[in-house]
Amino acid sequence: MGKLYEALIIGAGPAGITAGIYLARERIKTLLVEKMVAGGTPLNAERIENYPGFPEAPSGRELMEKFLLHAKGVGLEIAEFEEVKRVGKEGDFFIVETGEETYEASGIIIASGTTPLKLGIPGEEQYLGKGVSYCATCDGPFFKDRVVGVIGGGDSAFGEALSLANLASRVYIIHRRDTFRAQRVLQERALANEKIEFVLNKRPLEIKGDQFVREIVLEDTKTGQRENLSVDGVFIYAGSRPDTLYLEDLVERDEAGFIITDEHLSTKTPGIFAAGDVRKKVLRQISTAVGDGALAAFSLHRYLIEGKHLKK
Ligand code: NAP
Repeated sequence: MGKLYEALIIGAGPAGITAGIYLARERIKTLLVEKMVAGGTPLNAERIENYPGFPEAPSGRELMEKFLLHAKGVGLEIAEFEEVKRVGKEGDFFIVETGEETYEASGIIIASGTTPLKLGIPGEEQYLGKGVSYCATCDGPFFKDRVVGVIGGGDSAFGEALSLANLASRVYIIHRRDTFRAQRVLQERALANEKIEFVLNKRPLEIKGDQFVREIVLEDTKTGQRENLSVDGVFIYAGSRPDTLYLEDLVERDEAGFIITDEHLSTKTPGIFAAGDVRKKVLRQISTAVGDGALAAFSLHRYLIEGKHLKK
């Protein structure tokens, strides 16, 4: 028999931590399991500018330290560096297997977020760590006074291009269209930044180099013409996808793999809820993840009461 909890949350980003705070305050025996260090995707963000209440725009790390301080203050138990390998159902309980432990829980919240999408082009894997990166906050300092290309037209590409522009000598934002998904304020800032140059209607075909990245091969999406752009680094922000294989068929997913929930954030399996970026939704922000975490905790609490797992 595994260690027993009333609620087990998978993933310690903004959604999971918020759910944990709510459940801990209800005195529900809860464990938050995180495969890496607690904090989630925001740990990679240089500045968080759109989370209300923090007009000073803290770094993602600073903001998540406050989330964690809050969680620890209400007594939430957190297990870091434990990756969930499998979730199964046995009778009224869910069995959660990590590499280290087996847990039993009456209810589960999936808040395991997403991981960056790969472009799947030649050179991407070969030059990973040799010029190819998915994290400007982590690898940006290696590109001081160098030329880098940033692939994508979303919030991540623009946010990270702006942070790279503080170090690099030139930053190309390479996008396959000529309009962007990124927030308008980020677009305005990038347009006004002298170090940032736009390379539009171009699709990346290959990353080339010797020991390190030297150039990226681009194809014009309108004319089909190819060109080689000289760069020292390529930062890829082509979106992200959840990895929920460990749930097998306990949840329903959309075609991209995001978990489908109802308005209570329930999945197709009673007792399993999903919150944050991992679920199918239209806006992925810290603020929406926090809202999801609160609602998932509320729904799980109600499930426990209705299922008479809790005496209330
Ligand atoms: P995203 O919004 O999905 O943008 C991905 C970008 O990559 C798109 O511009 C897309 O082009 C491009 N792309 C996709 N596949 C490509 C390919 N094979 N080749 C070339 N380009 C490709 O992803 P994201 O920027 O990582 O953001 C993910 C989510 O997190 C979003 O909901 C975003 O709002 C949120 N986020 C928020 C913040 C913030 O609030 N500060 C910061 C970061 C992320 P198309 O536009 O043509 O599809």
